[in-house]
Amino acid sequence: MDCLFCRIIAGEIPAKIIYQDEKVIALDDINPQAPCHKLIIPRNHIATLNDLSPIDHGLIGHMAQTAQKIAGELGIAEHGYRVVMNCNAGAGQTVFHIHLHLLGGRQMTWPPG
Ligand code: AMP
Ligand code: ZN
Repeated sequence: MDCLFCRIIAGEIPAKIIYQDEKVIALDDINPQAPCHKLIIPRNHIATLNDLSPIDHGLIGHMAQTAQKIAGELGIAEHGYRVVMNCNAGAGQTVFHIHLHLLGGRQMTWPPG
């Protein structure tokens, strides 16, 4: 298994896990780009958004609801936060196991880089 996030999910690599359930885990990003930077990661290995199949439909909703829940718990929901999923290298994806970035705790700018 050479996937970093699969190895974290398997407990082979340590991570600061802040939430987990039967479908996803959420953890602190190791290189935070905002005061709050969490990653919401499905337990199933799906390399990119391009590899999502119709049976994964409910998974993305669950990931979004997990982001909503964590943002509320961290107190960033009212001010605002951003969720991002990079797809492939041209969008900046570096770990090829899909994940939702949850960023907040500062003013976000647009457009993203
Ligand atoms: P992306 O570039 O969209 O694929 O995002 C991958 C994210 O994973 C980056 O924000 C990295 O900082 C983060 N990351 C890489 N290695 C680890 C790790 N061991 N634990 C937590 N986050 C990580
Ligand atoms: Zn994986």
